[in-house]
Amino acid sequence: MRTVRRRGIAASPGIAIGTARVVDRQKIKIPKMRLSAEDIEPEVNRLMTAIDESRRQLESAKTAIFNTREPHRDHSLILEAHLLMLEDELLVKGTVSLIGDELINAEWALVQKIDEIKQILADLGDDYFKERAQDVDFVGNRVLRNLLGHVTEIIDAQGEPCIIIAENLSPVETTQLIETPVLGFATEVGTRTSHTAIMAQALGIPAVVGVERLAERIKAGDTVIVDGSHGEVIIRPDDETIDDYSSQATAYEELEKRLYASREEPAVTTDGVELSLLANIEFPGEAVMAIDYGAEGIGLYRTEFLYLDRRELPTEEEQCRIYNTVIKTLAPRTVVFRTFDLGADKLPTQAGGRNAESALGLRAIRFGLKNRTIFKTQLKALLRGARDATLHIMFPMISGVGELRQVKSLLNQAAQELGDEVPSEVRVGCMIELPSAIFVADMLAKEVDFFSIGTNDLIQYSLAIDRGNDSVAYLYTPFHPSVLRAIDTTIKAANHANIPVSMCGGMASEPLLVPLLVGLGLRTLSMAPGSIPMVRSIIRHISSEEAEALTRQSLEMATATEIERLISDYMDQKVGLDFQLL
Ligand code: PEP
Ligand code: MG
Repeated sequence: MRTVRRRGIAASPGIAIGTARVVDRQKIKIPKMRLSAEDIEPEVNRLMTAIDESRRQLESAKTAIFNTREPHRDHSLILEAHLLMLEDELLVKGTVSLIGDELINAEWALVQKIDEIKQILADLGDDYFKERAQDVDFVGNRVLRNLLGHVTEIIDAQGEPCIIIAENLSPVETTQLIETPVLGFATEVGTRTSHTAIMAQALGIPAVVGVERLAERIKAGDTVIVDGSHGEVIIRPDDETIDDYSSQATAYEELEKRLYASREEPAVTTDGVELSLLANIEFPGEAVMAIDYGAEGIGLYRTEFLYLDRRELPTEEEQCRIYNTVIKTLAPRTVVFRTFDLGADKLPTQAGGRNAESALGLRAIRFGLKNRTIFKTQLKALLRGARDATLHIMFPMISGVGELRQVKSLLNQAAQELGDEVPSEVRVGCMIELPSAIFVADMLAKEVDFFSIGTNDLIQYSLAIDRGNDSVAYLYTPFHPSVLRAIDTTIKAANHANIPVSMCGGMASEPLLVPLLVGLGLRTLSMAPGSIPMVRSIIRHISSEEAEALTRQSLEMATATEIERLISDYMDQKVGLDFQLL
């Protein structure tokens, strides 16, 4: 079969060449367990809860469809049929009986029952009943996933190192790739700043996302090249192409090694301005990796990853232990803990969130203020975890002073309830990632100890581009004059109030943007650990005076294209071609 080249979005740099494994969405691993008599009742309750949850999901999908325009309304009838199936005696009562009669767990009983019903329908031999068999599968799988507590499907972790091809990977599935021998991945949906891409960057896995109709062009076993630096996927490459990409992969690895070797050098411009480079982490295990790459501390610990893909919420004790370990691992460097940013594409299964929330929905501190018990548990864990140090805590998605005061008051309440078990110093920061926060940055600056600019969301909300939606991803640009002005306003507000300001969004590690960030006056940047050596090297090639002049010019320019061209020309002169590999 012939070679096919498909363009997508470069989500995580590097080149991977290997055999494709297409993720089979239907595949769910079924735990099989024998029960004793006293386990029957809780097991039946578990099944009923999963059925209730499935009903709730189908109801909300039905309402969503019904509210759309006419042509889609028919689909709500299909969902209606699925809802009725959840009341079906054969399926529900049949599974309950199997649990008791055979003394087996709910998942095992349910799968047996689904197979049995499908067989009955198939034996009727009519097309209509064949379709009903598919419905049983669909509904049964939904209940099964709810039983298993999976928002996501499981990637089969067996076998040889491979390249994963999927329609989509959730951030949680991406984290599973670390256990699977995965060389790279490519997906049909996703964007550069989606949390899936962020995870790929953190794990150092080359990735391309947003490649239209990819899975249908690939068979399991095909050779595939994933060029995560340029956003290209090559399916069934010929020998010449494989040789060409193998040498590019080698050049990339050599560049990485060279950059890594210089990790002890300071991030100082040619005219002597020094920057602090910090790491963003999602898991405690990345703390060591951050030090290894020469991070001076953690500028963003995305604590929400602790809540994902598990049945129970993390307890105060568990969180306290984890936070304390990260602090101790990094000491004497500082760790900035961001309170959980749950919602949107990071769904807390235990708190009832299963369907993706809109980016404008119940997310981050909005979710925390609505679920105060969960939020306060985390605040206490953070206070206790840092009791022998200074706690650096920051809040995501702050829209204004009123909201900030509410979360600060909850933090105070948590501290009062803990009595002596609190750190001697707590430094409270605010993420600046909403346009509203930019407009009141001067006011926010008076109420906090530091600012951290979250550009992933700032761009999303300023330009009205859903960061998870690949159809508008081409509009997502950090070079937009409004973005530069927003950052400029934030830095000025922080300087005026005499508080530190850093950047922890994806802009901080975009090679081309480094001169602009230096020129805007940022002196602290936080990024995926693996990006630190590259950013350090760029800083060492540029002069802050030139960067300031370029930035002044950029702030006068009307379009992203002009600004990008200006900076590209400068980077070509100063830094050279190496960085086109990144
Ligand atoms: C951001 O929005 O830029 C940010 C750093 O936070 P997150 O990517 O986790 O939303
Ligand atoms: Mg954010």
